[in-house]
Amino acid sequence: MLFKERNIQTQYHRVLTAIDPGKRIATFKTQEGTEEQNWDFIHIIPPMLAPEAVRNSPLPWQSGNWAAEGWMEVDKGTLRHVRYPNVFGVGDIAGVPKGKTAASVKWQVPVAIDHLVADIQGKQSDARYNGYTSCPLITRLGQAMLVEFDYENNLTPSFPGVIAPLEELWISWVMKTMALKPTYISMLRGQA
Ligand SMILES: Cc1cc2nc3c(=O)[nH]c(=O)nc-3n(C[C@H](O)[C@H](O)[C@H](O)COP(=O)(O)OP(=O)(O)OC[C@H]3O[C@@H](n4cnc5c(N)ncnc54)[C@H](O)[C@@H]3O)c2cc1C
Repeated sequence: MLFKERNIQTQYHRVLTAIDPGKRIATFKTQEGTEEQNWDFIHIIPPMLAPEAVRNSPLPWQSGNWAAEGWMEVDKGTLRHVRYPNVFGVGDIAGVPKGKTAASVKWQVPVAIDHLVADIQGKQSDARYNGYTSCPLITRLGQAMLVEFDYENNLTPSFPGVIAPLEELWISWVMKTMALKPTYISMLRGQA
């Protein structure tokens, strides 16, 4: 929506394979072959991998998309390991379709804990993680979008009626730049 509004052309399915900072040329592998592009400004996202200790353990997916990247083979609802039932995976290492955000951890941890406590008590837990993911996107100085969604891509706004998820808003910018850090720190201290 914003790309269209700002006349930004997008090109997908390209993997950066080389970069020449002197000539400002980036080389990409595409479905058709190799492509070179000049750039004025380049922002590179490194390939995402699970940390070595998890990647080189028996815990990752053994096949499929997530095996090579080493994400842990957990059930996407219970977060319980598929082959080691006494192991749970929360946070970025969890091999689930969405949820690689700190905000997701807030909803994942209580699910894992509920199952652990139920196991200890010899009971069953019906707690499930729904894929909650939160992407605060700065779209310009003073404006941002706070897009929250679940596994099914349903929008799951935390502040319905206050923060519209698909609009650029100053309040989302204030939240991203000023409010989130103290919130996450409180979360780590168990206060949120
Ligand atoms: C640029 C950027 C912006 C982001 N913005 C947001 C945002 O606005 N909102 C949001 O919700 N999320 C955001 N995220 C995502 C968020 O940072 C992660 O989802 C979150 O940090 C995951 O937490 P984690 O504890 O699972 O993993 P991590 O935070 O990666 O913690 C894992 C820890 O394990 C340590 N470790 C690794 N190997 C070992 C070992 N062998 N022994 C001991 N320790 C080890 C690592 O050093 C690290 O400290 C952002 C991420 C990036 C990169």
